[in-house]
Amino acid sequence: MTMDWYSHPPTSSSIDWDKQDSAALKRKLITANHILHQQGVVDAYGHISVRCPNAPARYLMCGYMAPGLVTSPDDLIEYYVADSKAVSPDAKKGYSERFIHGEMYKMYSDVNCVVHSHAEAVLPYVTSGVPLKPVFHMAGFLGNDVPIFDAGAVYSPGEQQDLLVRDSRLGTALASRFTLAEDDRAPAAQPDHNVVLMRRHGYTTHGRDIETAVYRAIYTKVNASVQTNSMLLRSAMPSLGPAAQAKFDFEPLTDEMCKGCLKMNEGTQDKPWKLWAAEVEKSSLYINRG
Ligand SMILES: [Zn+2]
Repeated sequence: MTMDWYSHPPTSSSIDWDKQDSAALKRKLITANHILHQQGVVDAYGHISVRCPNAPARYLMCGYMAPGLVTSPDDLIEYYVADSKAVSPDAKKGYSERFIHGEMYKMYSDVNCVVHSHAEAVLPYVTSGVPLKPVFHMAGFLGNDVPIFDAGAVYSPGEQQDLLVRDSRLGTALASRFTLAEDDRAPAAQPDHNVVLMRRHGYTTHGRDIETAVYRAIYTKVNASVQTNSMLLRSAMPSLGPAAQAKFDFEPLTDEMCKGCLKMNEGTQDKPWKLWAAEVEKSSLYINRG
């Protein structure tokens, strides 16, 4: 793989999804696995998938392995969106949580990439009851009301309650949390929410392309870290006296700021992608034979 491709990867944002080159997309999916590992979004757990451009009723993700160790298109498995079963009868073992991905693609036709993470910085917001808020301009995509999916409310008596989204029923319940309405309206092609937190577990995000989903996965983690530090710092406020307390409130982005920042985020996210891709190319851990 030449440096040139990493420094100047074609941005899928500018190409219709069904016109993506399949081989180039697999190569980019491998790079995305490496980026998510290098950025601390995934460790040995967590995963990314893409919808197949030439077969929208199928999706691709790596098999049962740490994302940082994916090296070749042979490490990828193709699944049917309908039931998340492998297309090939000889497919090796895959992720039990692939239903997160399959049900997102089934419910939302405009979603072409899904990322699921247990990033430690986000975990306080799925365990403490403190709401995750967009606290700076790079995270406008979060919106001011990030939903929380609770697998505990979906379980049947006697079911193994390991919090994993290991079947289509749990996957559908998670995917439906990306839609605003709780009524019977049919889901739109595009979800209302860009990120859904998963209680006691992690979070899931998506995009119309790989760059968008990776950007959101990374900046959800960064935003959570900034919010935690901001709130911890605020706990020192009483020592500054009542005047300081009255002057500075904890103020996340307003709804209008979220809209403006989302537009800005989507217009600039090709820039960090190129940096992140160059960084993983420079690390000897990551190998891309795509
Ligand atoms: Zn998980």
